[in-house]
Amino acid sequence: MSPKCPHCGESLQAFAVPEEGGWDSSFHVACFNDECPYFVRGRRRMEDVYGVKVSYRYRIDPTTGQSSPLAVWSMDALKDRILDAEITTDIGPADPESSGTTP
Ligand SMILES: [Zn+2]
Repeated sequence: MSPKCPHCGESLQAFAVPEEGGWDSSFHVACFNDECPYFVRGRRRMEDVYGVKVSYRYRIDPTTGQSSPLAVWSMDALKDRILDAEITTDIGPADPESSGTTP
């Protein structure tokens, strides 16, 4: 079963984590739906409060299963890092079986 975003129901997509982020895992999963209420609300709030067009996407670190906001600076931010790999493992401590997703 692939993980779904609890805010919009879309399937979460794996993306490569920037190496300088200091994360344990090489990829996280996030909701890249631009209509996602979580994302839309974050964008409105940041624009209202800070006057900047940034937002947050719903993100899960697959090694810990913890969700946390993923800051994005534009609608397309990080979309070029989305991995084609199909996410079939449950979120949890299990091995993500990520080998062989890159050439
Ligand atoms: Zn969503």
